[in-house]
Amino acid sequence: MSKIQALASVLADQIAAGEVVERPASVVKELVENSIDAHATTVDVLIEASGLKTIQVIDDGSGIDDEEVELAFARHATSKISSRADLFRVHSLGFRGEALPSIASVADVWLKTATGVGAGSQVHFKGGQLVSHTAAQARPGTEVTVSDLFFNTPARLKYLKSAQTELANIVDVVNRIALGHPEVAISLQHNGHELLRTAGRGDLQQVIAGIYGVQTARKMVEIKGEDADFTLAGFVSRPELTRASRNYLTVLINGRAIRNSQITKALIKGYGSKLMVGRYPLAVINLQMDPFLVDVNVHPTKQEVRLSKEPQLVKLIDQVVYQRLAQENLIPDAYQNL
Ligand code: ADP
Ligand code: MG
Repeated sequence: MSKIQALASVLADQIAAGEVVERPASVVKELVENSIDAHATTVDVLIEASGLKTIQVIDDGSGIDDEEVELAFARHATSKISSRADLFRVHSLGFRGEALPSIASVADVWLKTATGVGAGSQVHFKGGQLVSHTAAQARPGTEVTVSDLFFNTPARLKYLKSAQTELANIVDVVNRIALGHPEVAISLQHNGHELLRTAGRGDLQQVIAGIYGVQTARKMVEIKGEDADFTLAGFVSRPELTRASRNYLTVLINGRAIRNSQITKALIKGYGSKLMVGRYPLAVINLQMDPFLVDVNVHPTKQEVRLSKEPQLVKLIDQVVYQRLAQENLIPDAYQNL
């Protein structure tokens, strides 16, 4: 056996990156979430070759001060939490301080940023190393350009699926963030073609129409409900509008898209016997709760969560959906589209 030694930080970052940056869509998710955490009102995502050539995310958020721009790429460096107590009350999408160092360790990254009009800065990292840090003309906000993803991790490159699948994953990630943030104008372009553009006017049904089509959005009904701990708002499809997979179900907790099989089951249970076997509804469910009730620190990608009062929440969802659809049945079809 050889001696135990601490790994060089570049190597440690690369190991950690494996968990955060699985595929191009993970990079897109982390960057857009950073833009939203920076209170951007506009986020533009520009992709070339399914993210393998470039991923660019441009926002009009707070920007990063010149003195902090290198620190943003240090592992576990974050402006979002600072104490143990904060970890149990996460209000932002990010908090682990891992995304930028992870992405920079497996790609070529340029970040241009300004906190106001005038002076800005630009840093260039490649394979985890700082290449340059200069003053730059930049609009207020932040622009991150990631290219040559996985250039130094060939195994990861090989593991990627077809260009089409990787693009579908990117579209899925951006769609879900857009559904969770109708107040942010989000656009997605691939090889110069626009795939999504939301208005940022806070109108969820309009975002749904932009993603699933106007006809589909019209066949969805608004749901609302609350109990002592949870507030629920969103849209669910009428029982005759279904899909063959669960992919059209989006569940957001405090603006974060999450996966939770109990919540999905509750939603489907709300349809009672109205769904055909093997068919699933379309739905967007926004859940608001005290961050204390949800532990997002389960996995580096932050899509799995632990809920303190899951049975209570599950009951609320089932009831709200069931009651809303029962009400819908009472309204004659002719009045539906008025
Ligand atoms: P985390 O989001 O978990 O804090 P990241 O590695 O994603 O960690 O980012 C590190 C820090 O860099 C953030 O805490 C934030 O202060 C800053 N940052 C990253 N992206 C942006 C952005 N688009 N606008 C403003 N600040 C940003
Ligand atoms: Mg982040």
